[in-house]
Amino acid sequence: MADDCLFCRIIRNEIPAKVVAKTDDCIAFRDINPQAPSHVLIIPREHVPSLNQLRDPDVVGRMAMLAAEIAKQEGIADSGYRTVINTNADAGQTVFHIHMHLLGGRGMGWPPG
Ligand code: 5GP
Ligand code: ZN
Repeated sequence: MADDCLFCRIIRNEIPAKVVAKTDDCIAFRDINPQAPSHVLIIPREHVPSLNQLRDPDVVGRMAMLAAEIAKQEGIADSGYRTVINTNADAGQTVFHIHMHLLGGRGMGWPPG
């Protein structure tokens, strides 16, 4: 837990969010500025600033499993979806609590911008 971290504050219910799933290890909520019809952020309860500080591979494994489960809930598992972890400036990371974007409900371009 980090006192001044936006996503830790969402975990502590200090900031409201549209939560779509909660597990012992992760929570998932809708992105405030959605870039696709379904845009959910999956975060670990543990405060890890970015993929660069990841020490326990299970953390990302659990995030990915939950993303797949939410994709089913959202009805996009078969049509397809994209999972993204942005790391640092060139990738556009703006919140330094690791998170996986789950995006779907429309066709995605490749390569990404
Ligand atoms: P990043 O750019 O770090 O990969 O992604 C951060 C994401 O968090 C952005 O897509 C942004 O819209 C989202 N975000 C920022 N602040 C909030 C907030 O207060 N609530 C929610 N639900 N999403 C947020
Ligand atoms: Zn945090």
